[in-house]
Amino acid sequence: MFSRHVFSMPSRLSTPSTTRLSNTAMTNETTPAPNFIRNQVRDEIEGGQVTKIVTRFPPEPNGFLHIGHAKSICLNFGLAEQLGGECHLRFDDTNPAKEDQAYIDAIKEDVSWLGFEWAGPVRFASDYFGQLYAWAQHLMHEGKAYVDDLSPDEIREYRGTLTAPGKPSPYRERSADENLDLLERMRDGEFGESEKVVRAKIDMASPNINLRDPIIYRIRHASHHQTGDKWKIYPSYDFTHGQSDAIEGITHSICTLEFEDHRPLYEWFLNNLPVPAKPRQIEFARLNLDYTLTSKRKLKLLVDEKIVDGWDDPRMPTISGMRRRGYTPASIRKFCEMIGVTRADGGLVDIAMLTHAIRSDLEDNAPRAMCVLNPLKVVLTNVPEDHQEVYDVPGHPAREDMTVRKVPFARELYIDQDDFMEDAPKKFFRLAPGKEVRLRNSYVIRCDEVIKDAAGEINELHCSVDFDTLGKNPEGRKVKGVIHWVSAAHGVPMEVRLYDNLFTVEQPDRDKDVDFLEHLNPKSLVICQAIGEPSLAEATPESRFQFERVGYFCADRHDSTPEHLVFNRTVGLKDSWAKIKQKG
Ligand code: ATP
Ligand code: MG
Repeated sequence: MFSRHVFSMPSRLSTPSTTRLSNTAMTNETTPAPNFIRNQVRDEIEGGQVTKIVTRFPPEPNGFLHIGHAKSICLNFGLAEQLGGECHLRFDDTNPAKEDQAYIDAIKEDVSWLGFEWAGPVRFASDYFGQLYAWAQHLMHEGKAYVDDLSPDEIREYRGTLTAPGKPSPYRERSADENLDLLERMRDGEFGESEKVVRAKIDMASPNINLRDPIIYRIRHASHHQTGDKWKIYPSYDFTHGQSDAIEGITHSICTLEFEDHRPLYEWFLNNLPVPAKPRQIEFARLNLDYTLTSKRKLKLLVDEKIVDGWDDPRMPTISGMRRRGYTPASIRKFCEMIGVTRADGGLVDIAMLTHAIRSDLEDNAPRAMCVLNPLKVVLTNVPEDHQEVYDVPGHPAREDMTVRKVPFARELYIDQDDFMEDAPKKFFRLAPGKEVRLRNSYVIRCDEVIKDAAGEINELHCSVDFDTLGKNPEGRKVKGVIHWVSAAHGVPMEVRLYDNLFTVEQPDRDKDVDFLEHLNPKSLVICQAIGEPSLAEATPESRFQFERVGYFCADRHDSTPEHLVFNRTVGLKDSWAKIKQKG
């Protein structure tokens, strides 16, 4: 029924070194993590400058959301929730070539799954294309925007560098009428993709390169998932974001630090257009997590190259991947609260902090069960063939509300291969020839004989039960070890997928000269044909368990069926984060 030699256990999630805990916002459960934005907005509300906070989460639908986005989601939706405001979900959909309805659907599902509700309908930047077009015309009327015929290369060349000012395009002084006419013809598809762009006329000598006549419209002969073939020109991110915020009455437009240099431009548009409101941009440091990539482009590569099993592969740092792995919304929200919000860039958060968050949630909430990952047969020679006993075992040691499990005991059992050693060292407190061990919730047994096949491989163990040891210790003997087991006749076969980090190094994409794919962990997935106790037969997709002595597992939401149970390892039992915290 089972292959003799199953896969060996991979190493547990690597123990982090304490030196790398550079994240400035670290916290423990007693001291709340800093969140400068929350403090600031709270002050503004108390001081009467703001009556109701309105935030937005603005994903581009060009990939699935990852753990970095979760930080932004928890911040934006969290502030609204905590401070009596509202948060919008607005797709930043200005680049039809890379976007897809499937991503929109996945993003909505992820935000909802995390437990957040957006105020009003799902919004799209493309809802405002008409208004943005009118505002481009407005700038042209005012002599503050022009159509440029320079090629993309020429525009780059004219832009100058950090040390040298740019120079004006020869098309910069076109008349308003000419600009307006060209804009209309661009919109109607009269020109090829790189023939023309629209630029705001700001300052070609500005020390901030973003203000050197930034592009506000490009020609794209692409069909758009929301607007179809209506538009042949698409606004740039910079020309879209602040105005969309203003249209929606966003009070605080919270984004990551790479947009800091764009803030003067964000404000320039708000100051030079007849917008209905003046939102404020506030930047915070993005989340960087060790052993993890948070670049959508690179995650997409893993999917496209079939290195992983889709965007929601349980090894992916995507919200849907973490969900499939067994993370709970509460654990992700707790993690985001633990890391805090600061402006200090460059910190690398220890992945042990993330696993700590899920482990402590599951410790409290996941029912227990016994499951043998790499089965080794044990025949209890002094137990009659027809003997049967059933134990009532609590579903959880501290939770009386959880169903009591029926755990059957019989003559033939499986134990884990790792719990037996033929030549055991002195400190090995599990099973060895001539040694005793306790079967969890049951008797003490002694190993009398090791049965091998012709090749010398261990086939099974013959052991005997001390019937005087149920629920009590054998008199005069010390039995230190307790191992888990499953009755061979009653156990349910299941596929168990042991997941580990996808990469073997802390920062897989740090070295620009080395392909990050070279750091892939060849043991990021190890599959076991395991045997679980009968209570697991009922496991519904996404139900989570602690397999005692082994780790936390979740029934796969796509692949697990009553006929073929599939469990994903969410996280091991060892909490290295708790240890680091203890050491202080
Ligand atoms: P790109 O724009 O290159 O596709 P992105 O990661 O910025 O990638 P968006 O969809 O634009 O993707 O992100 C939506 C929001 O999530 C933005 O406000 C962005 O600042 C925020 N965000 C993205 N990555 C992180 C991160 N690692 N930590 C915190 N916030 C993030
Ligand atoms: Mg972005």
